[in-house]
Order: sequence, then C-alpha cells, then structure tokens
Amino acid sequence: MIIITLHREHCIGCNYCMEVAPSYFDMDEEDGKSILLHSEEKSGFHSHKTHDDSAFDECNYAAESCPVDIISVREN
Ligand code: SF4
Repeated sequence: MIIITLHREHCIGCNYCMEVAPSYFDMDEEDGKSILLHSEEKSGFHSHKTHDDSAFDECNYAAESCPVDIISVREN
C-alpha cells in the first residue's frame, strides 16, 4: 500500500504539487492551500492510502517539488 501524507497547514500555495501530480492534488480556491484528494484528516495531517503503485512516483515527485517539505510518500 502507498500512503501519501500532507501537513496542510504549512502549505504556501505554490501549486507545484498539483502541477506534477494532478491525480492526487488540487488547490483550494478559498484558502489557496493544497488539497490531497480523497484524503482523511487527523491532527492536521491529511492522508490518502492507495494500492495503485503508480501513485508512488507521481506523489514522490510532488514531495520532492514541495518547497516547504510537507508531503511524504511511503510504502507500507
Ligand atoms: S507543493 Fe507544497 S507548498 Fe506548494 S502547494 Fe503543494 S503542498 Fe503547498
């Protein structure tokens, strides 16, 4: 399983994650921060779990692109 996590409150709204991983990230028009699609929130961390192996490379690219390092991707 691939687990993607976003610590959303520290997002600076640069759009990079959405540009490189549009299947997983979008931008919230109201507060300008990133949204991790189909995620669950717990204590400020938004997590999305998937069995789709292609998520790893796409979301890892987003994690590497994030200037404030608030996206993580791991395999479980
Ligand atoms: S790349 Fe990081 S800072 Fe930029 S919008 Fe995405 S989560 Fe926010």
